[in-house]
Amino acid sequence: MICGIRSSIRPARSYVNKGALASPAVANSAALYKHYTTNVDNNDSPVALKENPFAKEKVQCILCKHGINPDYKNVQLLSQFQSPYTGRVYGRNITGLCKNRHEQVEREIIKAQNAGFMPTYHKAVEFLNDPKLFDPEKAIRPHKY
Ligand SMILES: [Zn+2]
Repeated sequence: MICGIRSSIRPARSYVNKGALASPAVANSAALYKHYTTNVDNNDSPVALKENPFAKEKVQCILCKHGINPDYKNVQLLSQFQSPYTGRVYGRNITGLCKNRHEQVEREIIKAQNAGFMPTYHKAVEFLNDPKLFDPEKAIRPHKY
């Protein structure tokens, strides 16, 4: 404990102004004069900030955040938005997609199914073990009905 206290005291010595100790009268008057002139117009004036430091981060859906455009040829990506049991597209309350991207995903899934790239009543078997983008059991928003 004693060692800890000593080490905490030691650096304080470096803060002592040696010039002030040598000639206290001159140094003090100069310091006072400086204090009254500079502090008023420089340090106390309000600071103009370029941007709001408390601004919240813009909320974006997972596809917008990574700049991904869903395409009917990218079946592996599309199948991540499909239920493995029914083949239906997960709702926005589960995926958290924005309206634009959700409609785009639905459109591309239908296109891929019509082209025969994607199954309609289940998820493609080769993509069943893909990492999950979201948990369908825990919706991020309650269902609207
Ligand atoms: Zn989005």
